[in-house]
Amino acid sequence: MEEKKNNLISIIVPCYNEQEAIPFFYKEIIKVASEMTGVDMEIILVDDGSADGTLSAFRMLAEQDTRVRYISFSRNFGKEAAMFAGLQSAKGDYVAIMDADLQDPPSLLPEMYRIVKEEGYDSVATRRSTRKGEPPVRTFFANVFYKLINKISKVELVPGARDYRLMNRKMVDAVLSVTEYNRFSKGIFQWVGYKTKWLSYENIERVAGTTKWSFWKLFKYALESIIAFSTTPLSVSSFFGFLFCLLSVIGIIVVIVRQAIWGGSAYGWASMVCIILFVGGVQLFCIGILGQYLSKTYLETKKRPIYIVAETERDNKKEAD
Ligand code: UDP
Ligand code: MG
Repeated sequence: MEEKKNNLISIIVPCYNEQEAIPFFYKEIIKVASEMTGVDMEIILVDDGSADGTLSAFRMLAEQDTRVRYISFSRNFGKEAAMFAGLQSAKGDYVAIMDADLQDPPSLLPEMYRIVKEEGYDSVATRRSTRKGEPPVRTFFANVFYKLINKISKVELVPGARDYRLMNRKMVDAVLSVTEYNRFSKGIFQWVGYKTKWLSYENIERVAGTTKWSFWKLFKYALESIIAFSTTPLSVSSFFGFLFCLLSVIGIIVVIVRQAIWGGSAYGWASMVCIILFVGGVQLFCIGILGQYLSKTYLETKKRPIYIVAETERDNKKEAD
């Protein structure tokens, strides 16, 4: 009987200063791998320019386990770049992306694999059903963000969506064909389409280390995602322009009528200053929005690579030879 070839699953793990979490993660993923029959696994660890011992941990793991590969960036390029690098180098028939801190439980993987294999889905994505352990302000702004972006953008974003997902090769290739520089993966996964099943789980605390997100970073991330997936803010200035024209016509009529009936209507210095400041402010605000889109376009036209590799497990092997 001909031997059936195992499917290969690539696991992509973006890591930035995760030296404390990696041993826990490795132990857990190996356990899951040993429980899954009929599949081979490759683990692609992406070091996003870490300043701690993350890279040496990778080197050690790659030496003792041939399933482990790694890519190390020349500096910190961000999680989006790390995920993209992983996707590019993944050879698997199926590809999963998960965090190193075990907030994306590897134990869900067998179920996710079963769903894409048997239920006809192209991908299985995950979302947090709760935001337990998160500051209430952050939860509030997250809710506002999801409401806003779903109103003004064509792609539908699922509140609480994580980057943890398993995709088949077809979908991975589609994601790779989107080569934009300003990457917002949660949007890109939705944008490429295909059938996705959503699983939810309760928020899990980090196993070790600290989160890389500050409130300010999250705020910028939200703004960038809006710019990447909606052009609605660009029409804000048209809206204000139209509104102010209308108001000024009403104002002109009021002034003329008042002058004709009562006379002497040229007063109101204070209100004039307020109006000038207000209109000037709105104009600057709209120019600012334009500037945001222009700067993104500028970066996009430069066609800079999304990441630069400093070292992979292959370099390490060559040195050892
Ligand atoms: N990460 C990365 N590059 C960065 C920031 C984060 O590769 O510039 C990785 C990080 O190591 C982790 C994942 O992205 O594996 C998620 O980061 P984190 O846990 O800080 O985010 P949170 O889970 O709090 O949203
Ligand atoms: Mg995390």
